[in-house]
Amino acid sequence: MSFSEEGQEPLAGCTSGESDEEREAVRATAQVDQRRIANAVREILLAVGEDPDREGLCETPDRVARMYAELFGGLHEEPRRHLRKFFTEKYDEIVLVRDISFNSMCEHHLLPFMGKAHIGYLPNGRVLGLSKLARVVESVARRPQVQERMTETIADLLIEQLHAKGVAVVVEAVHTCMTIRGIRKPGSVCVTSAMKGIFRKSLSSRAEIMTLIYGGRH
Ligand SMILES: [Zn+2]
Repeated sequence: MSFSEEGQEPLAGCTSGESDEEREAVRATAQVDQRRIANAVREILLAVGEDPDREGLCETPDRVARMYAELFGGLHEEPRRHLRKFFTEKYDEIVLVRDISFNSMCEHHLLPFMGKAHIGYLPNGRVLGLSKLARVVESVARRPQVQERMTETIADLLIEQLHAKGVAVVVEAVHTCMTIRGIRKPGSVCVTSAMKGIFRKSLSSRAEIMTLIYGGRH
């Protein structure tokens, strides 16, 4: 096995020191104008007929501002940076990471949608540390988002950075804008997929990856 750049992460490990990840998250969060959010939240509270100065609410605008800075911090991150360190490895079978949980924010209602992403790829000499896939999901999710674009973006990033023979991304999510308002359908799950390369071209490869994702379940 050889490492590209200073990649030191074990292939099947998610444990290497992530302090530069934390620093990056802090930097990204600091890019969000929290004062402006707090002012806007105060306006919303006034608009719905609340008293933003009563005890229970007086710290809410600042609290919501910090929360939005965290939830939208991905806007100020470059998800590609997680894909620059890869291993050169003669492994030519499918790599799949299932059940990567994420939270994102629907850009139509600013309500959360949350679920799981399954990411599989067929390497072409470049193999990624497994935790990096989760990092990419996290980075792409933490911005105003729609599930379809999120799915496509993750697949495009992987094919572009890994030159993989194929990439398959399946995302399943519950959208609170469908469960708590509007048509109120609790339990409904939205599934999106993006198939690239061999998983797009070959029915049997697509069937194989879908079996790996869903095999033994349902
Ligand atoms: Zn929505």
